Amino acid sequence: MSERVIPLVDQRLQSLVATVPTHPIAPVGLLSDSLGRPLHDLRISVTDRCNFRCNYCMPKEVFDKDYAYLPQSSLLNFEEITRLATIFVAHGVRKIRLTGGEPLLRKNLEILVAQLASIRTPDGSPLDLTLTTNGSLLKRKAQQLKDAGLNRVTVSLDGLDDAVFRQMNDVDFPVADVLEGIEAAKAAGLGLDAHGRFSGLKVNMVVKRRTNVDQILPMARHFRGSGITLRFIEYMDVGATNGWCMDDVLPSADVIAKLQEEFPLIALDATQLGETAQRWGYANSAGQFDPNLGEVGVISSVTQAFCGDCNRARLSTEGKLYLCLFATQGHDLRSLLRQDTATDAQLASAIGHIWHRRDDRYSQLRASLPADNAPAVRRVEMSYIGG
Ligand code: SAM
Ligand code: SF4
Ligand code: SF4
Repeated sequence: MSERVIPLVDQRLQSLVATVPTHPIAPVGLLSDSLGRPLHDLRISVTDRCNFRCNYCMPKEVFDKDYAYLPQSSLLNFEEITRLATIFVAHGVRKIRLTGGEPLLRKNLEILVAQLASIRTPDGSPLDLTLTTNGSLLKRKAQQLKDAGLNRVTVSLDGLDDAVFRQMNDVDFPVADVLEGIEAAKAAGLGLDAHGRFSGLKVNMVVKRRTNVDQILPMARHFRGSGITLRFIEYMDVGATNGWCMDDVLPSADVIAKLQEEFPLIALDATQLGETAQRWGYANSAGQFDPNLGEVGVISSVTQAFCGDCNRARLSTEGKLYLCLFATQGHDLRSLLRQDTATDAQLASAIGHIWHRRDDRYSQLRASLPADNAPAVRRVEMSYIGG
């Protein structure tokens, strides 16, 4: 049994000051870090609050009624987020994912979506704008989000069995409501591609041993042929509160082996650099990939590190830039942003210098860490920087 670690230090208070560099870096869309990785994806956390208490992310024992969430005044407002996003796009970002906590809890989120949807890349193209949600409020908000310009959505769902799901979200939330949210997203046309398939509508399932392994096949049966891509995520050692241990990780290879007991699968090529999921297509009776049956993905963050291509930056709810999901400190952009004198060019320079120095590759180094994998310095929680 692993022991749950309750942090004594509030890691959100640790941050690096972002300053205006003396050597400016103009954004030309080709920013590369110290390991040659471009900046392409930006994940923006819009709230650190959530209405679920998934035990692998926000365990009730820590995120209880006394937990100190960020005050409203700490959060970046929509204008600040849009200003930073525009600068990131000038540096090469092409995909923005809104996340949290639960992003749909942020009031008037569709206004932010509309602002971000109006940003254009230097060649005049719109961004790939998406959102990750637990789906609980999707039924109510799907159409508004689509109308505001959201392209795609990823819904987290860890099982189809109502009892298993209620236990995993730990707030007794019924699975039927999330499934209705997914249907509402489909009806609104979120994630619909030019071929009439919902290729931009994804469902993520975190697989945890002794918890929901028996949900792998029912989930695959449910989403196969639906046009929605189901992705299985290895349970990760993010944050410092979920009591992670390697024994609870079911390697993706085992997930694929389990699926292949029932469905023949064919390995598919990655569609883009930095793609986190390995793709597998369902085969037809002739043994060939059948696009009508669709595909599944596995995200092997623990057993097969993908740091080599990692092109993602994360902006926390209060405007700290994190260069890795497993970072212990973020770079405080908000204080620069709120200095009335800081120009966009100066902010772009500060971001450029931070990305240039980036050498994070935690997952690649994980294997060389001590067996219990306890970090020397505590990491920030995923609900704070966004998944
Ligand atoms: N609340 C939203 C949701 O659940 O989709 C967005 C934020 S949540 C932090 C983003 C994603 O991180 C979810 O798909 C969730 O399942 C995943 N996640 C959280 N903790 C995790 C962990 N320890 N290992 C793997 N994935 C995790
Ligand atoms: Fe909330 Fe998402 Fe974390 Fe679950 S995974 S507790 S839904 S932020
Ligand atoms: Fe990227 Fe950090 Fe994950 Fe490696 S461990 S893939 S650098 S976020």
